[in-house]
Amino acid sequence: MSYKILDGKKTSLSIQQEIAEEVNKIVEAGGKRPHLSAVLVGNDPASKAYVGHKVKACKVVGFESSIVERPSNITENELLQIVEELNNSEEVDGFIVQLPLPSHIDSQKVIEAVSPSKDVDGFHPENVGKMSLGLSTFKPATPAGVMTLLERHGVKTEGMHAVVIGRSDIVGNPMSALLRMNTEPGNCTVTQCHSRTVDLMSHTLQADLLITAIGKPHFVTADMVKEGVVIVDVGINRIDDPSRKSGSRLTGDVDFENVAPKCSWITPVPGGVGPMTIATLLENTLRAANDRS
Ligand code: NAD
Repeated sequence: MSYKILDGKKTSLSIQQEIAEEVNKIVEAGGKRPHLSAVLVGNDPASKAYVGHKVKACKVVGFESSIVERPSNITENELLQIVEELNNSEEVDGFIVQLPLPSHIDSQKVIEAVSPSKDVDGFHPENVGKMSLGLSTFKPATPAGVMTLLERHGVKTEGMHAVVIGRSDIVGNPMSALLRMNTEPGNCTVTQCHSRTVDLMSHTLQADLLITAIGKPHFVTADMVKEGVVIVDVGINRIDDPSRKSGSRLTGDVDFENVAPKCSWITPVPGGVGPMTIATLLENTLRAANDRS
């Protein structure tokens, strides 16, 4: 089968261009540029890279951005105080606290301290609840970005059997919730698999749409999927690659080379879901700014 690429890089650039045009209009009309702030705790290179990408994207679309950087020995109270300041800031429209946080900090407590109206990650229980009810709210950037990616490529998901692998609060759970909604894309019959699922392959073989959010390189192999499947690979894994100058490269959860020929559509990694996550965060920030103005 000749497969088509769900091109997250190109789609993200189109969305960024649309947002930049709207920001221009806001500024021309005398309004304030939307402002996204990111709280970065510690020195985790992946977290630093993600925050760096987000700030860079803000520049591209004409947003203000700021990073609040603190060492990993920050106390929970100090972090909660920063969250409170950002909640009350007139300047900041939306902010994220980059996860994971050091183990001495209760991440859930921090998530719940973020004002739902500035929670552009969509992680606050109030926003999660609204999303689950199909109410208008900030949706978590990665699964919402997947929905946009499917929509903008004209992939009709109504009636599909979607199989989601993963049950994290940032990807697997909200992904399943969005796919079962009475929306387009959406209207799927959803099976959600996880680390305790028995006979995973019996489920993946039924998938018309397979979403993987596992974090294990090349986990999904060609014998696990049926012909014509649509695959969205959320996984981002760094593997050794001596042919690269850096000695490593990023890869997804899917054995792309051998699985892609069986697919109708598939995301590349990198260049699939990653850029869509950033585009959606920008969309959420624009919305937060518009709601506040
Ligand atoms: P997580 O570790 O919280 O969740 C992984 C899930 O995989 C778990 O729910 C677990 O039940 C499931 N799992 C693990 N082993 C399994 C097995 N053998 N069989 C079936 N299920 C299994 O991770 P996460 O935060 O959900 O992220 C998942 C992946 O997506 C990671 O690679 C992460 O880097 C990536 N990610 C990408 C983006 C993006 O923008 N593209 C955003 C967030 C996360």
